[in-house]
This record gives sequence, C-alpha cells and structure tokens, in this order.
Amino acid sequence: MSFKEIVSHAKQYGFVFPSSEIYDGINAIYDYGQYGIYLKNNIKEYWWKSMIQINENIIGLDTSILMHPNIWKASGHVYKFKEIFLYNEETKYSYRLDLFIENYFQEKNIRNKEKNLKNNLIKYIYKKFKENDKEKILRLINKIKSKKNLRKWTKIYEYNLMFKIPLKEHEKKNFYLRPETAQGIFTNFLNVLNTSKMKIPFGIAQIGKVFRKEIIARQFLFRMREFEQMEMQFFIFPNQEKKWLEYWKNNRLKWHLSLGLGEKKYRFYEHEQLAHYAKKAYDIQFKFPFGFKELEGIHSRTNFDLKNHEKYSKKRFRVFDKEKNNFSIPYIIETSVGLDRIFLAVFSSSLKKETIKDTKKERIILKINPALSPIKAAIFPLIQDKRLISLAKEIYKKLKLDFILIYEEKDSIGKRYRRQDAIGTPICVTIDFKTLKDKCVTMRFRDKMLQKRVLIKDLKREIKKETSMKKLFQLLR
Ligand code: ATP
Repeated sequence: MSFKEIVSHAKQYGFVFPSSEIYDGINAIYDYGQYGIYLKNNIKEYWWKSMIQINENIIGLDTSILMHPNIWKASGHVYKFKEIFLYNEETKYSYRLDLFIENYFQEKNIRNKEKNLKNNLIKYIYKKFKENDKEKILRLINKIKSKKNLRKWTKIYEYNLMFKIPLKEHEKKNFYLRPETAQGIFTNFLNVLNTSKMKIPFGIAQIGKVFRKEIIARQFLFRMREFEQMEMQFFIFPNQEKKWLEYWKNNRLKWHLSLGLGEKKYRFYEHEQLAHYAKKAYDIQFKFPFGFKELEGIHSRTNFDLKNHEKYSKKRFRVFDKEKNNFSIPYIIETSVGLDRIFLAVFSSSLKKETIKDTKKERIILKINPALSPIKAAIFPLIQDKRLISLAKEIYKKLKLDFILIYEEKDSIGKRYRRQDAIGTPICVTIDFKTLKDKCVTMRFRDKMLQKRVLIKDLKREIKKETSMKKLFQLLR
C-alpha cells in the first residue's frame, strides 16, 4: 500500500491522529488513538521484558524529563547537539543538511561503491561551514540538482535541537526538555550501583518521552518533535568494548527479526559522521515506505558521559576492575531505538490489500504478529438473537479478565470480520445456534481465514496460545 494510504488508514481506524487537529494540527506531532495505544504499549512491553525480564543483568529506571541544567553541559548537548539547516526560498522550508545529502544520493541512486563521494561531500561542506564560507556551500547546493530540482537555496544556518524552558522569569538559566533518555541513566549510575546487586558488566534500561526541535515535515511518525525512546545503557570495563558492541548489535537485530517483518527489511549501516559522544556507531536501518532509514542506533559511547559527569558533579564514577587491579570509569555500549519508528515499521509493512479467493472481494488486513495486535479477539453473536447475545456477552465478560477483547453484534458477520482484519485482530469468535447445544464456538483466524470449532471452556487456552508474547521471547534464544 502507498505511504499515503497507510497514513490515512492509521487515522481512519483509530491508530494515529494528527495532534491538535481541530486547530489545523502542528507539524511533526501526533497522538495515538484507541487501537494505536495498544499496539504501542505491546511493542513497549515486548522491548521492556526482553531487556529486563530476560536478562538478569539489566534493570529498569524511569527518570525525569526535566533535569539539572548542568547535565546538558556535561553531556555536551548544550554546545554540540546542533544541526545545520538549509533554507529554500521556493518552498519556504528548511531541510537538515545531513538528511538533504542522504536523500540526494538516494534520489540519484548512487550506489555503495561511491559511498566515498558522499562522505567527502559531507566533510567538505562541514569544513566550509566551520570556516564560515556559507556562500561557497550555497553555490554548491544550488548547482546540484536535488529535491525534485529545487533551486533558490538561500540560507544555511545552525541551531541546537534542544527545547529551552526558562527556569525562572527574567533569569538566564534554562531547563531543557531532554533530547535523549540516556542522561537520566548515567546520572543514576551511582544510585543503582549502591542499591542493587549489579556488577559490571550490567545494563540499565529506560523508556520515555524525549523532545527535539526537528523541522522536517511529512514523515509521519518517522521524525517527530515529541517522541518516545527505548534505551539501554550497558556498562562495561574499557577492554570489553569490541565484544559487547558486537554482542548488542547481533542481539538487537535478532529482536527486530523476531517481529516477523522479514529479514530483507533490515540492514546495518556504519556511521562515518559520529555524534559528539560516540566512538563507533552502527544503525539498524529498516526499509520504510520511503526507503532504508535508521531504526535503531547501537553506539560505543566510551566513558565520555561518565567522565564528564565526574568532572562537572565532582562525584567519583570509578569502579574497581579485579582483572586489571585498578579503578576505571566504565565504558558504555548504548542501544537506542525510537518506539514510534518501530510502530511505523510494524504498521506500514503489515498493512496489506488482499483479494479473497472465493468472493473475489478485496479486504484490507493488518497482518501483525498476534502478540502485538491491539485486540486479541472479537466476540460475536452470529445474529441479533436474544439467546446468542446473552451467551456471547457471558463469554466476553469472562474472557475480558485475561485479554483485550471487542464485543460486536451490529452488521453482517462478513462486515464485522472486515473491521477486525483492518485493525489486526487475530481471532474472531462466533456464537451460533449450534453453540447453544454443543457448547462449541467458531474460531476464525485472520490471516488464512481458516475456521475451527472449539469448546467454550477451551477458548482461553486457544486465544492464549495464539497471542502470547512467549512465542516472541522464544525466538530471542
Ligand atoms: P536521525 O539521524 O534519524 O535524526 P539520530 O541518529 O539523531 O536519528 P539518535 O539520537 O541515535 O537518532 O536516537 C536514537 C533513536 O531515536 C533513533 O534510532 C530513532 O529510532 C529515534 N529517533 C531519533 N530522532 C527521532 C525523531 N525525530 N522522531 C522519532 N524517532 C526518532
């Protein structure tokens, strides 16, 4: 399905709404709807449990969004979390320089062999920017045909992506809305060390909202100003960096593959241009409807953050290394993924249009892994008959203690199936007149549309078997 159709399905079926829509919306900010929130929470739960429940050496935290302003000085964000933007007079839009160049190479289909070309161009432009030779950059950008031959690139400027909030009226000090969750983990490193049994190597995981002044438009959930990150910081001794970087690269790819979107949708990309805190950085890229783009970052942050927090806070961040018989500041391997980007990956690649064999009619189906499905089963009386309704409601009431369910009696059974297909419900359960006699219901499975009769008393077991997250965890072994 086209990207436009995917975005419109997300809205029409209650997954994602543009924020503040009645006031014409705000660029790059979205709300999750009644089904979207379940899908999002299921992805979150799967990530969270596969970090802290499956690994006995990883614990979780939930730290604040507003933190001491010095944290962002120590982390380097106040001085270095900046991007260069290009302004186009024709569209009246600004574009991030690094993404502009990436798109240019994608548009022109310039292959890997010529990767050096891209890197050299980036290096050249950054060098000229440092030398304040903006004219030269703009001349160059105006010469290359890109962004559907847009011309009139008239400004090049840099700004910090953090949102500032004044601490007090008329005071120069600022709070910042956090642009990553990682700093809440680093600043609690000593608390965790002192209050838990964790010993290096160990990890701290966190899920939370972050904020960045992104100005790119029309990328839906891919690039937002307010989004959620799922980050895990793994603390190691310096000589273990290579081993653990490799370990987490493979572990995270395995996690993504377990969602069943297909191996071909993923690839690794090694960064040449590194963030200010990183020594080595890999992306797991995903084939979104608009091409391969970053889904998750796996970085070696070395001891950059803890060293700087030691300097700024005057607290000691050194840990004794028995093997080396000395104290050292731990190194960190970070895995950082955007929850909203996984949502988009799952949603966009699972939404399909299919022709039904027998009827030749079309159906739209959200073929997601049942463990992630917003609704686990829909309960229907075959028709609006008092006895069927009463039994169906009784079954619904019992099972809703274990699963997120939907009860529906309106419209034909076929229409009800279509509605559930479109939101990804893996099972529909129908109560008919035979049920009144044999205590069996019909279970209908979303993907193959197969049906089977099962005893009412076995329904809980059957739904659990089909929708449990346990199956996903088993794939991680
Ligand atoms: P990009 O190059 O796409 O801007 P990044 O390298 O700045 O991403 P990180 O700072 O490494 O991203 O953040 C970790 C993860 O957070 C990314 O891999 C991505 O999944 C997610 N993420 C980053 N920026 C956004 C955004 N604006 N909207 C949604 N998710 C984001």
